Amino acid sequence: MAKIYDVLIIGAGPAGLTAAIYTCRKKLSTLIVSMDLGGQTARTSYMENYPGMESVNGNKLVEKIYKQAAKFGADFVLGKKVSNLEKKNKNFTAKFSDGSEYSSKTVILAFGKIPRSLGIPGENEYLGKGLSVCVTCDAPMYSGKITAIIGGGNSALESAVYMASISKKVYLIHRRDEFRGDEITAEKIKKMKNIEILFDTIPVEIKGSEFLHTLIVENSETGERRELKVDGVFSEIGYEVNVDFLNKLVEVNEKNEIIIDFNCHTSRPGIFAAGDATIIPYKQTIIAAGEGAKAALEAYAYIKNESVGIDWGKKSNTPR
Ligand code: NAP
Repeated sequence: MAKIYDVLIIGAGPAGLTAAIYTCRKKLSTLIVSMDLGGQTARTSYMENYPGMESVNGNKLVEKIYKQAAKFGADFVLGKKVSNLEKKNKNFTAKFSDGSEYSSKTVILAFGKIPRSLGIPGENEYLGKGLSVCVTCDAPMYSGKITAIIGGGNSALESAVYMASISKKVYLIHRRDEFRGDEITAEKIKKMKNIEILFDTIPVEIKGSEFLHTLIVENSETGERRELKVDGVFSEIGYEVNVDFLNKLVEVNEKNEIIIDFNCHTSRPGIFAAGDATIIPYKQTIIAAGEGAKAALEAYAYIKNESVGIDWGKKSNTPR
């Protein structure tokens, strides 16, 4: 008979990996399934707000958390996407499109978000041919060149700082007249001489031949269009949650974020959730990691048939 894991974790970002450290240390058999390792954190060039790390590359941080989870005995299936999650009798089964499946007593949903689409002509054609959604992965290709970064959140701002440090010129294109990301990074950007900020500006079209060479943008106030001659474009416009494979097993909000209580319980007993795929408002690496730890301890309590509050031995109901 196929093994039934105590915990199946979907997603290997900071939330999923941290959850695995905690479940493994509680001696629960744990399987992590994920398309990639590290999620959005792995695509972050540098972070200055992770406690204990003055400045750290997101990918390096994730590698460390991964090694820690593996050291404590987590099993991994990477590079595969769960196409269907079902509840069968008391257990849950995650199925993949190749027909393979894994079962578990509990599930922790920690699959984060996927990059939002720009929805402009040329986007699909030039993705991977000059258009990138990952500065950390693709930045070295544009060393000494001219690039454009689209977005006004922390991802775009941090990417702009990094790209400006290695490239000739960076256009930072934001659709409003103020940034959404942290003020401290915005201030840094305003002082960098090789960053040209285009506020109130939307991307309209990407053009090129074999590789992209032009980004057409439009000022939303004046309607004026500019053709920016660039070697690369980074789309850093945020992420969205894909919950189709969950088959309505858990409740989600209008943004498809998984509804959880403050102890990471979803609406379905035995399924917990943590990180950016949930309604928790602050999509931060440190918060995702903390939520992953909470979800893991709650999965342990569920398996041991304990109530919440195991850290301090209290038994209480969890209000939603
Ligand atoms: P985000 O905060 O959702 O920002 C997305 C940006 O893209 C916004 O400025 C948005 O404009 C713009 N945008 C959205 N759709 C667009 C479109 N179709 N065309 C043009 N612009 C568009 O996403 P994020 O920057 O990826 O960050 C996601 C979360 O991760 C945030 O909570 C962020 O703080 C966090 N994060 C944290 C760190 C860190 O801890 N160091 C690093 C990176 C990210 P509007 O402002 O007008 O909505």
